[in-house]
Amino acid sequence: MYWDKYSYSKIKSKVFEALSNNTNYRTESILGIPGTFLDSDIFYDDAAFLKDAPFLSTLIANPNHIGVHTFGDEHEDFFKGTHEIEKDLIKICAEEIFSAETGSYDGYVASGGTEANIEALWIYRNYFTSEFKAKPEEIAVIYSGDTHYSIPKAIDLLNLQGIELTVDEVTRKIMIGNFEQKMESALHEGVKYFIVNMNMSTTMFGSVDDIETITSFLNLLKVNYKLHVDGAYGGFIYPFTCGEKNVFTFKNKNISSFSIDGHKMLQAPYGTGIFLIRKNFLKYVCTNEAGYVKGKDFTLCGSRSGANAVCVWMILRIHGSEGWKVKMHGLIDRTTSICDKLDEWGIDYFRHPDLNIVTINAAYISQSLAKKYHLVPNSHYNPEWFKIVVMPHVRPGIIDNFLSELKNEQKLSSK
Ligand SMILES: *Cc1c(COP(=O)(O)O)cnc(C)c1O
Repeated sequence: MYWDKYSYSKIKSKVFEALSNNTNYRTESILGIPGTFLDSDIFYDDAAFLKDAPFLSTLIANPNHIGVHTFGDEHEDFFKGTHEIEKDLIKICAEEIFSAETGSYDGYVASGGTEANIEALWIYRNYFTSEFKAKPEEIAVIYSGDTHYSIPKAIDLLNLQGIELTVDEVTRKIMIGNFEQKMESALHEGVKYFIVNMNMSTTMFGSVDDIETITSFLNLLKVNYKLHVDGAYGGFIYPFTCGEKNVFTFKNKNISSFSIDGHKMLQAPYGTGIFLIRKNFLKYVCTNEAGYVKGKDFTLCGSRSGANAVCVWMILRIHGSEGWKVKMHGLIDRTTSICDKLDEWGIDYFRHPDLNIVTINAAYISQSLAKKYHLVPNSHYNPEWFKIVVMPHVRPGIIDNFLSELKNEQKLSSK
């Protein structure tokens, strides 16, 4: 895994060069498209600071990245400069973070993890319908009980059936006996095609699904399945902290696609989910009716801001792969320092060693402490767990304050 770190001035000149390769609404004759620059009463383009602000300048120039730009020669050529930046971004994510071969993948910057997850399920549903004449009742989506709610949302939208697998209360691992039993009854009921969602970190626990066990069983059964990895949360941390043992890459033949969110670990603005998929799958969601879009549309969202792609690219480039690794390891160390104290005091929690989430058993935390530190419960009606997400604003001082109050509560309750 490697990509170069660029200086801020190099990033700036690359972004301004890209903008100069786009068609400019202010200086060129553009009669046909419904887009234009941002409202100039609010976003005036002659502010002096803009020459040092590549992201804001891109926002104001307002390139539309509608469609997908990783294949074919047919693209809207109005914004080809910033399309190139998005292509470099997708290349870094697919080839460097997830070890894809050059030219073996497609991808785009979606509105978020929700869209990327829906896009994946939409593609696989259509793949099974068009390649195998699958009937709706013959397709099912398999996912763990700790899965993000965007998967049930996608199942609802796409009129699919879901098979939720039970996880162990303590280890948060999918219970294999439960999985085998649910597979058996699904097959018995005539389900022939499976869409499998594996979490490369869940939102509530930071647990990582045991993809090897699940796929070896599916392969043993010789069932027809496609597997999507939801890395919306973990995508920009787990591959950097887990070392060589990462099996969540495109080298793993069982995986076809990934969702990863720039607006979580990467600290990019909202609207920066990234969808990556092996070649020859996007065609299942080609909207041929998108006649006026050159190159057609393969996304769920349609129009989308080129500035989002530019800013994710800028963040990855300012750190470089080595810098990002160091930053993520810093969060891991801070998380471990919390867990060390919890261990010392015998407080029950879940934590995956390569992730920055600590989920504490609610029995050890008063409602008022949870409220004071804005801990998030697994359920607002009946909290069983409260989580701490160690993000860059979670400084050691805040952690120390929280821990000392937590310790006091244990003393009081043991008296
Ligand atoms: C946040 C998250 C999502 C949804 O992402 P949005 O960007 O909020 O749409 C999906 N899956 C997981 C695991 C997440 O953490």
